[in-house]
Amino acid sequence: MDARPASGRLERIASHERNPKWRNPPLRIEMSECINCDACLRHCPPQFGAIFNHGIDVIIIPELCSGCDKCLDPCPVNCIYPDPDWSPAPDDWWEEPLGPRDSYAAVTNR
Ligand code: SF4
Ligand code: SF4
Repeated sequence: MDARPASGRLERIASHERNPKWRNPPLRIEMSECINCDACLRHCPPQFGAIFNHGIDVIIIPELCSGCDKCLDPCPVNCIYPDPDWSPAPDDWWEEPLGPRDSYAAVTNR
């Protein structure tokens, strides 16, 4: 048994669990306001790697989001919000981490 549950991105992807040490809530993207510019996606630190293009949406997987806020400033329309009452990511969102559109995977897999 791993003594450090969800401590790394691969563990979080495998377990679908946030790191229990993260104090900040995850963030969410308000899809009705998002203009799909991808700026947030490029600013999410790869050790978290929480933001993905998913169909026509840009999504934050809450279990991978540390709440570091690095995606906030780059967003031109300020449509990223704290989500203290977050719900688990839908099953189809989990198709993105480590998939062909995971731009963070090269760092994760070192
Ligand atoms: S708060 Fe940090 S970890 Fe979460 S999506 Fe934004 S940049 Fe990524
Ligand atoms: S930076 Fe803002 S507008 Fe651009 S994709 Fe991210 S959430 Fe959407």
